[in-house]
Amino acid sequence: MTPSSNPHPALSFDLPKLFQKSGRETLLVDWHIEQLSTSYSNAQHALGELHAETSGEKVVISGKLFLHWEGPCRRCLEVTIGTLEMDITEVYEDEATEGETFPIPTTETLNLEPMLSEHILLSLPLAPLCSSDCLGPMPQEFPANTNQDVAPEVGIDPRWEALGSMTFDENDAS
Ligand SMILES: [Zn+2]
Repeated sequence: MTPSSNPHPALSFDLPKLFQKSGRETLLVDWHIEQLSTSYSNAQHALGELHAETSGEKVVISGKLFLHWEGPCRRCLEVTIGTLEMDITEVYEDEATEGETFPIPTTETLNLEPMLSEHILLSLPLAPLCSSDCLGPMPQEFPANTNQDVAPEVGIDPRWEALGSMTFDENDAS
């Protein structure tokens, strides 16, 4: 990971400026993510461009982010990385609707981090795979998708047990 000269990336819009100016602002996102993960993978870096546009009393956030993630392959457990695209379109308004829109904060700063975190957690892969033809850690011994190959109990064949009780008289050959 390349060192960032901006350890606290700006993920926010200045609301007074947004409403007083042209009503359009663009934010370049270059976010080295510290702690956003599920049990299966974690977010590393989000990169892209987001636009804020006022529409009456509302603010519409839209844009596309590329999310770099990392996590163990579900078959071989090797560390696997990947990139996915996230299309963002969200509305902020005074009377937010739960699960549909986000509230406009009473402060002057519209911080996008909670909304983006939600998107990221929903986008992270639940079953990372290093490659579509990954055969698992030991393809010879344990082929993927086979878990019932258990060797049968080894015992003595009853037909051979009879031989164990036979004795040979060495004197017969003389
Ligand atoms: Zn794998």
